[in-house]
Order: sequence, then structure tokens, then C-alpha cells
Amino acid sequence: MKANKNFYKIEQNYLFAEVADRTAKYSKEHPEAKIIKMGIGDVTLPLCEAVTDAMHKAVSEMGVKETFKGYGEYRGYDFLCESIVGYYKGFGVDLETEEVFVSEGAKTDLGNILDLFDSDNTVLVTDPVYPVYVDTNILAGRKIVYADATEGNNFLPMPDYAVDADIIYLCSPNNPTGAAYTRAQLKEWIDYALSKNAVILLDSAYEAFITDPDVPHTAYEVEGAKKCVIEICSLSKTAGFTGTRCGYTIVPKALEFDEDLNKLWLRRQSTKFNGVSYIVQCGANAVFTPEGQKGVKENIAYYQENAKIMMAALDECGIKYFGGKNSPYIWLRCPGGLGSWEFFDKLLEEANVVGTPGEGFGKNGKGYLRLTSFSTHENTVEAMRRLKKMLGK
Ligand SMILES: *Cc1c(COP(=O)(O)O)cnc(C)c1O
Repeated sequence: MKANKNFYKIEQNYLFAEVADRTAKYSKEHPEAKIIKMGIGDVTLPLCEAVTDAMHKAVSEMGVKETFKGYGEYRGYDFLCESIVGYYKGFGVDLETEEVFVSEGAKTDLGNILDLFDSDNTVLVTDPVYPVYVDTNILAGRKIVYADATEGNNFLPMPDYAVDADIIYLCSPNNPTGAAYTRAQLKEWIDYALSKNAVILLDSAYEAFITDPDVPHTAYEVEGAKKCVIEICSLSKTAGFTGTRCGYTIVPKALEFDEDLNKLWLRRQSTKFNGVSYIVQCGANAVFTPEGQKGVKENIAYYQENAKIMMAALDECGIKYFGGKNSPYIWLRCPGGLGSWEFFDKLLEEANVVGTPGEGFGKNGKGYLRLTSFSTHENTVEAMRRLKKMLGK
């Protein structure tokens, strides 16, 4: 047996582990410090009542012979797929239930979807990037090319026809930069993908945070998308499912490639996956009911209020930032020309606030820091008070 040596090629020192180490070290040396964590992208508000009610009911059903469920559909239960189809209808997009695939979350599918593609394909990702896209492809031995996301393009790189690619990852609204493509910009990517016979894997994890009417909630709002886009979605940030685990992936039947990817994906799922728990799918389904939508929108509004507090403080400090408007992330240029880790340390030591160094997401993240709005109002206000004090504002 020979192990997969590609494991040596992926980043060994995981960014968040280094952040946690430095934070723990500071905390040990300064036990009195009240540290506020605005680094890791995890939600803090609980599941809404519509979701927990649905899950309680499902648990009871599982304990009764007449309503007990064994293995479900590979694709996910029809009731949930139909609710998701209904959700897309709200954006003016018609899907078939057979184009919806329920998953345990976006990260799982972002990795698994690669089973559909030959390893002899070139992958295009942005820099900075959500590390999952890079690591999964390195493990599979694929060639990766980078599109630079910089202040010059508002962290929204556009296609370069001189570059050839077969698999394109887009994340909009973006983690880590918070930048989001408009319909017109996404159309340019779709035209590029169609001209290159490339597939776009669109990570839509932050769709529910969009406030700008020019930013589409789904790529399928844009002409041509059904021919080349697979959309990977998650209830993690939308509905607080980071610990509950549920997402969905849209694989259109109209995708135009050498094989029918919708059929291949069903074949792949039926080979390696036995579905998401009935209880979780019932909870996920409740997200799409009027009560569920009300509950999740209240939680998102809470995070959006935090983002506003942060943006106002950064404006006062004269710090340049991106995101915040369509995203729980604020991507700021480290003041005073500091490097990502230098500003991380300063913020930790002088304000007791933890962010995520931008350079952990790629070379273009050097000199930037990511903050999240997934805190309490109280902590957000306090963190911004300390930041202003630190910078003498
Ligand atoms: C949080 C996040 C996800 C969600 O992953 P899950 O596995 O559904 O929890 C996907 N993509 C990005 C960019 C994320 O930040």
C-alpha cells in the first residue's frame, strides 16, 4: 500500500489552529483579559423555533411503528426538495425536484462533487480563497490556477480569456472578503465558462445575507447558468445549521457537457451516500415555511446589525474595508501598513479582540484581516469601542 502523498502538499499548519494557539497563549499569560472572538465563521444564535418544533415532531414519528422511517431517498425527501424548488421560485427560477440534492452541508458536497470530474482538469480559484477548494483539488492531484482578487478589482476578479480552466470555483458573497458579484458580473463568468466548456461551482453559503438588489440570490437568475453552473448551498449560515448539518446542491439537467452530470451525481450519491437524517430534513424543511423564514430572517438581521456597528466604527477609524453589506464578513486593510499577523497580534494584545489574518487565505490577503459579525451586539459594540481606543479615535 502507498498512501496519498498529496497530503504533504496541502497547508499543514491550519490557519485557525494558529489563531487558536496565539489566542490561548495570550489568554494564559493574561487570565484577566476578556477576549472577544471575531475570527471563526460560526454562527452564535440558536435554531429558530419552527425548526426545533419540526425536529421534535420528527423524533416522535421515528419512535412510532406507523411513522418510523428507514433509509430515505438518495436525493433527499421529496417534501424538502419541493420546498427548495419553491424557494427558488421566489427568485423567479424554475427547477425540477430531480435537480435538487440534499446534503449534510456545503463543505461535504464541495469535496464530493469532484468525483464527477477527471483529475486531468485545470481548476481556477480566486486568491484569497476558501481553503477547501484548493485542498480538495490538491489531494486529487489537479492543476490549480489563481485569479487575483485585489483592491484594484474590489476583490471581484473577472474572467481572463487568456487563461484556460475547466472547473471554476466562485464564492459569492465571498468568504473571506465579503465581496459579491452582481448579475452582470456573474453573466461575464457564465459567458467565459460556456466559451471554455468549463463548469462553475458556485458556493452560495452566504446567499441569505444579500441586501443589494443587483446581487442575485442564485446564479440561475442569470441567462446561460443552467448550462454551466452547479450551485452549492448550505443552511449553516442561513439558519444556524453549522452543528445540525444540512445543505443542498443544484445540478441542472440542462448542463452541457460530455456526460449528463445530473445523472452522474445521482449515481455518485447512491454509491457513496445514504442520505441526511429524516429528523434533520424535517428541520431543514421548516426553514422554508413562512414561520421558518421569519425566524431565520430575524437572526440574519441581528448579524447584519452587528455588521453595521462594525462598518460605522471602521469608518470612524478611517480604515478601508470590503464586505459587510451582503455578508457576515468584513475584510479590512490593516491600518498603519501592518501585516496580517502583526495587526492580528496588536488587536489581540491591545484590544483583546481576535480576528483572522487575511494572508491565511492566500497571498493577496497579506495586509488584510477578516472580522465576522457573528457575535452578540454587546460584544460587537465593546470590540469596536476597544478598536477605536487602540487607534486613538
Ligand atoms: C461556512 C461555509 C460553508 C458551509 O459549509 P457547511 O459544510 O454547509 O457548514 C461553505 N462555504 C463557505 C465559503 C463557508 O464559509
